[in-house]
Formats: sequence, C-alpha cells, structure tokens
Amino acid sequence: MATTPFQPRVIYSPGYDIHFLGLEKLHPFDSCKYSRAWNVLLDRWGDRIQSLCITPTDPAPVDMLRMVHTDDHLAQLGRSRYVASALELDSLRFLPAGILDSRVLRPMRLATMGTVIAAQTALNTGIAINLSGGYHHASQDRGEGFCVYSDIAIAIAVLRQSQAITADDSVVIIDLDAHQGNGLARIFHQDATVHILDMYNRDIYPHDAWAANRINCALPLTSGTRDERYLRVLQGALPVFLQTIPQPQIAFYNAGTDIYEQDPLGRLSVSQQGILARDRFVFQTLTNAGIPWVMVLSGGYTQESYQLVADSVADVLQTWGRI
Ligand SMILES: [Zn+2]
Repeated sequence: MATTPFQPRVIYSPGYDIHFLGLEKLHPFDSCKYSRAWNVLLDRWGDRIQSLCITPTDPAPVDMLRMVHTDDHLAQLGRSRYVASALELDSLRFLPAGILDSRVLRPMRLATMGTVIAAQTALNTGIAINLSGGYHHASQDRGEGFCVYSDIAIAIAVLRQSQAITADDSVVIIDLDAHQGNGLARIFHQDATVHILDMYNRDIYPHDAWAANRINCALPLTSGTRDERYLRVLQGALPVFLQTIPQPQIAFYNAGTDIYEQDPLGRLSVSQQGILARDRFVFQTLTNAGIPWVMVLSGGYTQESYQLVADSVADVLQTWGRI
C-alpha cells in the first residue's frame, strides 16, 4: 500500500442527525453533533470542503445488515421496547415502532452506509472520515449501549464480499472510545485476521470479560486518567502492536471523544488538547505505516463533543487535504 496517495475524504449527510420529538433531551448524547461538526468545517472552508465530501444517499439495506446481524435481531428492531432497551432510553418504548424507525434507526442505517462508503473510499484515497458511526457495542444478535448496527463489521463484510480485500487480508481496529468495544470483539471472536487494539476505562460499562478476552492488545485504564498517562500508554503500545501483526490492508479508527474530561459517561480526564494529540498520533502512525484508514466518531456525550471532532478533522484536512 506504499502507493496509497493519502488524500482525505469526508463522508457526511444531514440525515445523520437524530431528532425524535424532543426526547433526545432525555439522553446526554448530543444527537446533532454530526451536523454541528460539519458546520464548523463548512464555516471554515466553504465550498472547498464540499469538494472533499461524499454524501450517502440511501441507508444500508437489509441485505447488507444481514451480512453481520441475525434475522432475529433485525426483526426485534421492529419492537419499540427492544429499541428502547438497546438505546438505553426507556421512555422510547411508548413510541410507535414506525416513528422510532424513521427518526432513530434510519439515521443509524444511513451512518452505517457512510462507514461502508468510507471503507471503500479509503482503499483508494488512503483516508476517509465518516462523521458518524462507530457503533462498537452492537453484536450479531443484540443491540446495547446506543448501538444497534455494527457499522465497522458490516463495512469489513462488504469489502470482503466485493473482493476489495480477501478474507485472509489483515484488518486492524483501533478503538479509543472510553468504553470497551465489546460488540466488535464478539463479532470477530473467531476471526483472527481482524486485529483489535482497545484502550478503554475498565471501571465503566460494559464490563464484558468474555469479549475483552478477544482483544489482541487491551489497554485498560482507570477513571480519572489524564493526558500524560493516556498519551504515554497509547504511544507506547500502538506502533509496537502494528509491528506485531501482518501489514493491514485497512484500519478502522473508532475515535470516541467520550474520553474528554467533561464527559459524564467516559469518566476519563483527557483535555481538548489531549484529544487532538491522541488523534494526531493515530493519524500519523497509520499514514506513516502506509495503512489506509477510516475514522468513525463513536461516543462523545457533551455539548463540546462536536468541536472536539471538528478540531481533529480540521487537522487531517490541513495536513493531507491540500485545502
Ligand atoms: Zn463510549
């Protein structure tokens, strides 16, 4: 992959935002961080960012979802109680399933298609950022932790099916969201060609020991971990890990911003500057290793989360986007 040009693309649709009757205010999740991050980039670069943007027009179809998820899980998503449980928003169980599908699940299927497009794009351009996705708690047969579709696993399945990569090709997932990515570890439990580095707060949800056992490079942290230690652990582990696995054909970077010191769910203490330093380190490490990479947003639950995302995307565009 030494010839990969590394010219970034941003995958985004206004349809990523989740609006449902004001109930989003019951959840700490900023369900419009996607458009807010995009608007920061648009204000800064105007039409020039449009030329780097790819907009998914259709949500991931059911045949694509079935490449990873069981029929039972997909059928259960037609029940409001099941969706409310997966999204951890109990009050949603009283809403008609049709409204939940159009207002909540459809944006997530659109974002899933965005991750698929990002993966296909990254193989050509080296860098693709989907301004949503990163649903790392969803597994084959269940949704949890605000995740119902495993967008990264679906993207890997699509790449394999289209023979953009083979089943033997090495793939790496770098999961730096504050929560352990248990859904991905479960999906790839028997798939040794997918290599997982996961750095997470061990003191918080999901406490999934069986899934954690699958992680190739587990970097558990404790609540309150600050910039210096966080960055030291990452910088010590990531380059070494990449040297121990076969050269990946593609990397998925799950760039959750819920490691932020103000985040109520992640309970780590990484500053705004620390998050930018983390993301820069991952971007540079992957690019220097000649590995095409996809970034997805994953968690991030504060009113500043969109700005943290915009800071990192702006850094990518300035460094590699010739913008
Ligand atoms: Zn998280």
